[in-house]
Amino acid sequence: MSNDISDGHVKIPTTVKFTKLFINGQFVDSLSGSEFETIDPRTGEVIARISEGRKEDIDAAVKAAREAFDTGPWPRMAGAKRAKIMLKWADLIDQNASELAALDAIDAGKLYNRCKAQEIPAAANMLRYYAGAADKIHGEVLKASGEFHAYTLMEPVGVVGHIIPWNFPSNMFLTKVSPALAAGCTMVLKPAEQTPLSALFYAHLAKQAGIPDGVLNVVPGFGPTAGAAISSHMNVDKVSFTGSTEVGREIMHAAASSNLKQVSLELGGKSPLLIFDDADVDKAASLALLGTVYNKGEICVASSRVFVQEGIYDEFEKKLVEKAKAWVVGDPFDPKSQQGPQVDKKQFEKILSYIEHGKKEGATLLYGGKRLGDKGYYIEPTIFSDVKGDMLIAQDEIFGPVMSLMKFKTIEEAIMRANNTKYGLAAGIVTKNLDIANTVSRSIRAGIVWINCYFIFGSDIPYGGYKQSGFGREYGMQALHQYLQQKSVVTPIYNSPWL
Ligand code: NAD
Repeated sequence: MSNDISDGHVKIPTTVKFTKLFINGQFVDSLSGSEFETIDPRTGEVIARISEGRKEDIDAAVKAAREAFDTGPWPRMAGAKRAKIMLKWADLIDQNASELAALDAIDAGKLYNRCKAQEIPAAANMLRYYAGAADKIHGEVLKASGEFHAYTLMEPVGVVGHIIPWNFPSNMFLTKVSPALAAGCTMVLKPAEQTPLSALFYAHLAKQAGIPDGVLNVVPGFGPTAGAAISSHMNVDKVSFTGSTEVGREIMHAAASSNLKQVSLELGGKSPLLIFDDADVDKAASLALLGTVYNKGEICVASSRVFVQEGIYDEFEKKLVEKAKAWVVGDPFDPKSQQGPQVDKKQFEKILSYIEHGKKEGATLLYGGKRLGDKGYYIEPTIFSDVKGDMLIAQDEIFGPVMSLMKFKTIEEAIMRANNTKYGLAAGIVTKNLDIANTVSRSIRAGIVWINCYFIFGSDIPYGGYKQSGFGREYGMQALHQYLQQKSVVTPIYNSPWL
């Protein structure tokens, strides 16, 4: 179907061109012929009907990936040649950034301008970063003298299954496939059922760039069918999952009870932001608001628990509410909007029910808490104060624009309360005091800690969870190594005693 998309003042006509499964280099209907609808969260209306991949389609995609791995050129190609194709794909992504941004905006309610200017270019750069590593994969010489010569090879892990969520469709797609491609793996990716559109467009561009057939297969579908078929597949060597902790647990079970495939998990979070008495209150309030409502709070590292030291608490609370009032929630194509609609009705209702629960638990609703407008899934930035650490709104990942604001006295208390969560994905610290910054950053159990900033990601900064936020790392060379396995080769130097 066709959508009329406004790019600031310009109208860009765009069409959803790709709605079928991408298997072995071709767009194909699902074997069952079934389809599902993808919905525009601005209106609740259907954007397009998408072929629904199920177990038999995953089987076909894994078969293509297996053949491409076992006999195809990709794993055998010189790293520099793989890199060249990846770089071409990155350029094609840049050239199509407007259309990709529009797809993520209509499918996920993400801000069009931010996608076009930041998220899509960052996704293309992920390919460039790992393309740069593709020809630098090597093992080590272990014995250069004596009777035996030994060395290691770094080989691709094989067929990879990627299962991704809906909150950053472009970033998640390229975060998964870039290191896996550089390593020489072949793969099947299942996008979230809420956001299949850009994933299929990326597949089309990959083919244009010259990624050989079968290397990258994209199969939209639902978790319990298509997703579960990947995690339990006997011919998938590794599954890389990003999503909720609950589903992460199911993925591990499936991997354990099938072929013991390798697993890496990027899961949920309930990240603390700790603001100390010496902070610039105005700037800290802006950071806290952004940390909570960025991408409508649909971000795994959202600073959904904000701890403020008692000396500045009252002033902070006042500033925070002023800033929340000025925050613009609206159509993601409107350049003035700072926050679009939640991804779908289910997520929208889940967030509103957490807000009701927070009120019943006895927290004070300082600001927001309501839906905005009568169409689409827009929610006000919402701030609760008087939140106790054991309340559901302080423990559960709400994945919406909802902040739990809490007061603390001492550094020790702040650390203890910040760590009072099953999650350990991220944390933030605002202070000018180096002692506090160092003490707190080393005491918080989280995979990334931002000091006097938040949401700073980079292809070269490893990122992942502690505790029930998962294991394994995205970004950096660590991510590349998750798609490689080490082989040791040993041989007598001369006069083998065995022959
Ligand atoms: P989700 O776990 O419901 O779904 C994620 C993906 O898993 C989807 O593609 C879904 O179809 C699939 N899935 C669902 N059930 C499955 C099953 N039984 N077997 C295999 N696959 C299955 O999560 P979501 O609602 O899409 O995303 C939100 C969650 O993702 C939040 O918890 C958020 O914190 C997390 N997340 C984490 C990171 C990170 O880097 N740590 C990044 C983004 C999102």
